[in-house]
Amino acid sequence: MPELPEVETICRGLNQLTLDREILGGDVLLNSSIARSISATDFLTKLKGKSIASWYRRGKYLLAELSQCRGGGWCGPALIPAPTLPSSFFPLPSSFFLPSKAGWLGVHLRMTGQLLWVNESEPLPKHARVRLFFEGNRELRFVDQRTFGQMWYVPAETEVESTVTGLKLLGPEPFSEEFTTEYFARKLHRRARPIKTALLDQSLVAGLGNIYADETLFLAGVMPTTLCADLTAPQIERIHTAIIQVLQQAIANGGTTFSNFLNVQGVNGNYGGVAWVYNRSGQPCRTCSTTIEKIKLAGRSTHFCPACQK
Ligand SMILES: [Zn+2]
Repeated sequence: MPELPEVETICRGLNQLTLDREILGGDVLLNSSIARSISATDFLTKLKGKSIASWYRRGKYLLAELSQCRGGGWCGPALIPAPTLPSSFFPLPSSFFLPSKAGWLGVHLRMTGQLLWVNESEPLPKHARVRLFFEGNRELRFVDQRTFGQMWYVPAETEVESTVTGLKLLGPEPFSEEFTTEYFARKLHRRARPIKTALLDQSLVAGLGNIYADETLFLAGVMPTTLCADLTAPQIERIHTAIIQVLQQAIANGGTTFSNFLNVQGVNGNYGGVAWVYNRSGQPCRTCSTTIEKIKLAGRSTHFCPACQK
């Protein structure tokens, strides 16, 4: 499942490749890939004649601000530009996604979704779900084996959160000023669930999934089964620091090699080769050589070093 670093990697790729080209049409191969607020036909009609002004990431959501093309293939910046936006690496406060003159396109990849920027002539894989055709014979292709992924069209002059309602449930971005140690400690205070489970809760902090939760707890030296209520102040501080460190490292590596993650140009990431514990059960710890163990916690496989993590 793509987590924050993978979605950030995809977002950066999309910003390099897909902007300011007119969307000429598309094809919805699986209706349920389009969120229910709009029919597949209307979805394509609304996107036609528009271009993408910029892509943003919020948690694991990708959000593209659309711009109306003025004919003749000319697609300038959004007619009413939003205030100057920071790069998606320093993500926006949750309230930032303002109504846009031409609407927004939202994407959530869920378990197995991929967004690929390809030539239209490239053979269609079995699990292709949505195709958007751009000028220059280019195509943004949404491929999704398990079909949990979704795309939204947010109408013009509409708050993004009113259509992509999952955004309302997200906690702060890990790189944002809102995500302080104090905030984190307050949220964990007296909670009876294990810290690993808490880290997967998107309303606590947005973007962490199974891989980086395990990596975070290794770096922090904390056992995944520790109940939030039992964490000491120094442990909470170490976990807070480790979240940021792990995610930054993974972004620097272009996302992970695990599962079926591909960036928009179809290339796998590099983080997998340097993971501390994730997917390494039975192998020696990179720090102390103790064998990495794997358990199930709230239904998710959880990897840890029994010697380094207390
Ligand atoms: Zn160890």
